[in-house]
Amino acid sequence: MPHIVVLGAGVIGLSSALRVQAQGHAVTIVARDFPSGSEIIDAQNQINYTSPWGGAHNRLVPPTNAAEDREHGMSVRTFDYMYAIQARYPEAGITLMKGIEYIENPSDAYRSLTEEKARKQLGMLGFKLLSRRDLPQGVNWGCEYDTWCVNPMVYCSFLLRRFAILGGSVLRREVRDPREVFSWDFEAGPVDVLINASGNGFGDENMFITRGQTCLVANPCSVTVTRQNADGSWTFCVPRGFDGGTIIGGTKEPDNWDPNPSIEVRKELLRKFAATYPQILDRNGNFTVMKDVVGRRPTRKGGMRVENETVDGDKRIIHAYGLGGRGYELSWGLADVVAQLLDEHLNGTSAPPYVSESKSKL
Ligand SMILES: Cc1cc2nc3c(=O)[nH]c(=O)nc-3n(C[C@H](O)[C@H](O)[C@H](O)COP(=O)(O)OP(=O)(O)OC[C@H]3O[C@@H](n4cnc5c(N)ncnc54)[C@H](O)[C@@H]3O)c2cc1C
Repeated sequence: MPHIVVLGAGVIGLSSALRVQAQGHAVTIVARDFPSGSEIIDAQNQINYTSPWGGAHNRLVPPTNAAEDREHGMSVRTFDYMYAIQARYPEAGITLMKGIEYIENPSDAYRSLTEEKARKQLGMLGFKLLSRRDLPQGVNWGCEYDTWCVNPMVYCSFLLRRFAILGGSVLRREVRDPREVFSWDFEAGPVDVLINASGNGFGDENMFITRGQTCLVANPCSVTVTRQNADGSWTFCVPRGFDGGTIIGGTKEPDNWDPNPSIEVRKELLRKFAATYPQILDRNGNFTVMKDVVGRRPTRKGGMRVENETVDGDKRIIHAYGLGGRGYELSWGLADVVAQLLDEHLNGTSAPPYVSESKSKL
């Protein structure tokens, strides 16, 4: 039986590990960081482990070119998986809800969306354009649709537990170079293929970080709301079910390495969100702040890297990193592509591009 090592235990490594495990391979996850209760994750020490700091919701992004088309396909597949997992494992950390989109200055891609196009071409469920009277002041376009949010560490811990109960092995190690792993001794035998789900890759010149500051509040919310402001900034909330509070966001700051949250930024995020969606405030008109959050989205010029590479003559690596701000919403679609690349390498054939959750072992 081929032995596959997945390097990384963020949402991408965990989804990919489960997906290739379902193909019948022996799988080991090697990583420096693993999911744990978000209350005890060290904000400074684990800032480069992005998955705990994500929202994480699934948003409408209408595709306008081939690369975005591909990503949209991945988001639709992920949507199917999330719905199926939620139905089968209510404890997985996934909550189904409405997504609301508000845009001050909508591009043609949004303006041209009709309910029929959203349903037939983009595969969206529950899509409805909002009328002017339903839009907050300053917003010129809005819609709602069916979507999902996850409580990141509840969800990632669930994936890790499923992986272990299905026979997967786990090793906490930091590596300097993925090639190291090919010379380690594993119970499952030598490494046939390594999947590089390390978030940032190793020395990839196209990688950069996009800092995101958000604020976790205790106020509950039953929808996920995103507002794109005319000045390019974003105002959003992402409910984290399972007693996870609600994320209010957020900044997108390329190449900003500051790990410290700014109180001024927090105040501004909360003020803007309250103006957009006052229903979230408690009966006294307040937020209950739990903590400020700073994360680093693993962003890549030219988009994510997902491809096969042979190094040192015979070592096979499948790269799956650089998901930027969309790791959760593309996770299962990307895991399907990883499984396909693996199958092509091992068998010279291509696996069916999509195995529905009911057919997979998950
Ligand atoms: C503020 C914020 C909001 C976000 N909101 C959303 C959202 O709403 N929806 C969404 O889809 N996405 C969102 N994202 C993005 C999402 O969180 C990321 O795309 C995703 O978490 C990336 O996952 P990953 O598995 O690729 O990387 P990571 O989570 O960083 O995992 C990388 C793994 O590789 C391991 N690793 C790395 N280097 C080494 C090494 N040298 N040795 C051993 N192990 C190593 C790490 O320990 C870790 O286990 C958000 C991100 C931020 C910061």
